Amino acid sequence: MIIVLKPEATQADIAHISGKLKEKGLAVHISKGSERTIIGAIGDDRLLAELPLAIFPGVESVHKILQPFKLVSREFKKENTIIRFPNGVTIGGEEIQVMAGPCAVESDEQLLFVAERVKESGAKILRGGAFKPRTSPYTFQGLGETGLKHLSKAREKTGLLVITELMDPRDLDMVEEHTDIIQIGARNMQNFRLLSDVGRARKPVLLKRGLSATIKEFLMAAEYIASQGNQDIILCERGIRTFETMTRNTLDLNAVPVLKSLTHLPILVDPSHGTGRWDLVIPMAKAGIAAGADALMIEVHNNPEEAFSDGEESLTPENFERLMRECRKVASAVDRFI
Ligand code: PEP
Ligand code: MN
Repeated sequence: MIIVLKPEATQADIAHISGKLKEKGLAVHISKGSERTIIGAIGDDRLLAELPLAIFPGVESVHKILQPFKLVSREFKKENTIIRFPNGVTIGGEEIQVMAGPCAVESDEQLLFVAERVKESGAKILRGGAFKPRTSPYTFQGLGETGLKHLSKAREKTGLLVITELMDPRDLDMVEEHTDIIQIGARNMQNFRLLSDVGRARKPVLLKRGLSATIKEFLMAAEYIASQGNQDIILCERGIRTFETMTRNTLDLNAVPVLKSLTHLPILVDPSHGTGRWDLVIPMAKAGIAAGADALMIEVHNNPEEAFSDGEESLTPENFERLMRECRKVASAVDRFI
């Protein structure tokens, strides 16, 4: 429900109305525009029906949120969400953040080497999987808790923030302890139990779009997380399944401006999984920024040919340096910076 207040509504009116809504157990968001204040309230329509909002002083009109996704919709919150980390890094503001690192954490030395190189090139967030969702049960499944410890150590040594994937709700506490952002992989986009659990976590969540998920399904998955209280969500476009076989997936850049219009959440583009080919990563990273992405996720490996997973889409540290140089130019062309 969107409650539009009259221009003359006072601070006391706003406090009174939002207090009444919260008393009913509704989630409330207040957006202060230059002319009018808008209050978004989410909950069962029957609870709202019990509140005769029209008679509250200051209320001009009341509207239903028409989208099936509520908390994550732009109807509920007009301004862009900016996620802020304790070290000052932001996602969703003017600065474009780049998360870079190996597909999988393979060893302490490998991770630290890549971490230092991507940091030198300007990345502020280190990625690396400790739990890997592999198609075959006979391929490398990740180092598990040992991998998480390597991530913690790399974070300590470099000062980079860390992102890693959570596959199983039973590992939530352990993953949360070692990471700054919790990644939900494409294969788990509709694992509703996992989504609800990270919705109660205290760390921001990167939600990857499912392999064949529509944008609406993607936003409904984000709503599961938000509905549990965690609204620090980054949406990741990582390519979808199409008939095309030249690339691993088809990076759906349409999704970037479509999502921007439908949601206030920051949008990240992952051209590594989106193409599956290292030689396409730089052009599609630039295209992602041009389309309006707030962040990028890039796989970087010290020796891609020997990588345990996703070597064919991983950049060498030298190519990552080139990516950053080229992306800075595109960022400035769209009034952003890296
Ligand atoms: C990954 O980031 O390494 C990964 C497995 O991604 P996705 O879930 O998008 O396939
Ligand atoms: Mn990967």
